[in-house]
Amino acid sequence: MSDKPVVTRIAPSPTGAMHIGTARTALFNWLYARHTGGKYLLRVEDTDRERSTQAAVQVIFDGLAWLGLEADEAPVFQASRADRHAAAVAEMLTRGSAYRDYMTPDELEAERTAARAEGRVVRSPWRDASPNDAPDRPFVVRLKAPLEGETLIGDQVKGAVTFQNKDLDDLILLRTDGTPTYNLAVVVDDHEMGVTHVIRGDDHLNNAARQTLIYQGLGWTPPVWAHLPLIHGPDGTKLSKRHGAQAVSEFADMGYLPEAMRNYLAKLGWGHGDDEIFSDEQAVAWFDIKDVVGAPARLDWDKLNHLNNHYIRLAEPARLAALVAAILKSRDWPLHDGDLARLAHVIPFVRDGAKTTLELADAVVFALKRRPLAMTDKGKELLTEETRERFARLRAAYAGQGAWDVPSLEALNRSFAESEGVGLGKIGPALRQVLSGGSPAPDLAGALVSLGKDESLGRLDDALSLGG
Ligand code: GLU
Repeated sequence: MSDKPVVTRIAPSPTGAMHIGTARTALFNWLYARHTGGKYLLRVEDTDRERSTQAAVQVIFDGLAWLGLEADEAPVFQASRADRHAAAVAEMLTRGSAYRDYMTPDELEAERTAARAEGRVVRSPWRDASPNDAPDRPFVVRLKAPLEGETLIGDQVKGAVTFQNKDLDDLILLRTDGTPTYNLAVVVDDHEMGVTHVIRGDDHLNNAARQTLIYQGLGWTPPVWAHLPLIHGPDGTKLSKRHGAQAVSEFADMGYLPEAMRNYLAKLGWGHGDDEIFSDEQAVAWFDIKDVVGAPARLDWDKLNHLNNHYIRLAEPARLAALVAAILKSRDWPLHDGDLARLAHVIPFVRDGAKTTLELADAVVFALKRRPLAMTDKGKELLTEETRERFARLRAAYAGQGAWDVPSLEALNRSFAESEGVGLGKIGPALRQVLSGGSPAPDLAGALVSLGKDESLGRLDDALSLGG
């Protein structure tokens, strides 16, 4: 292996969604480039002009940006490089590693049938024909692949994988309309982008053999290969719709944080001992492509939820507030001036139990409600005359309270209950109703602190004036 600086790339085809497998491939390319101090590039494989709409390309940009895995340089668009692809094929024709194949569709069909019957791959009679015999009709350009011997892929994940050359046909490089085929374009682009390591899904392992032959036909050195195992669903079958989310945008919409996704995706096929939770810096320091395991990785929602909860608890409240505000907006919740600040204040009190930002949004609603809160039937039932009178005394105690923090208010609540000669259980449920209007809320002191003194007193006043 040479000691050229490492260059990796992610080469998605814009299909309209960014699959979670593509995200994992991007992450491993990013990690390996960062680990080695190399570069991580993006190539948009947009040769399918019908599918590669601007919107579909944007999905990839958005997905990578959301994941925090943007490339180090401007993207390369494969379709814009058709001239380079054709030039490489012209070079191969000159070198004798490619030939023009003039088989008609009927001839090709007959050869296919014969090849199938004889248990061999298709071979064109034009492979060894003299260019002087060239007829005046459409042709494709094929690779003149070796007929014998083996092609060895020294894969960093799969180990040594050997292909018998007799099983590899002379693949088409340029179609009759002069457009390049997929394998040719990938080789030319990877070479000219200086890619040293091709890290991608193992559905491309067979292509690695074919691409190696193209590299040889061009007199170029193939990159280091690393083919990643597929991601399976929790039941061990290929990930599909019935397993739930597959697209990066779906995970975002379900309330997962990008750093949780990175941590989680890194664990899909790679790991560092028993470490479940690690930072980007740790992953970069530890990651080596050689440590990726060859067996398919299984999606595990419990682990993802556990990680997401961990990162929700670590995140800056202001950032979570913005995410939660966007969720509430999408639910048509009316947001008011000051709500962002209120959210940032409340979130630390409610986030411990949240597995997703959607759950976090459910947990903050109590604090955003506007006075006077609608009282639930349960609330009305709990607000007996006796409780109302007690809450009037409690209101006075709160009003005289200086420090408005959890320990002080816990102490106040306890001593208040004592002075009333009742357990906290006599006070808590009704007070929670008054403070939250029946929405999920943290425990008493947490709810009081999240609401702040003025709002807490105001909600108590509203309740006391109800039917009083
Ligand atoms: N465009 C291919 C895909 O989306 C990836 C090709 C490659 O990584 O070489 O599957």
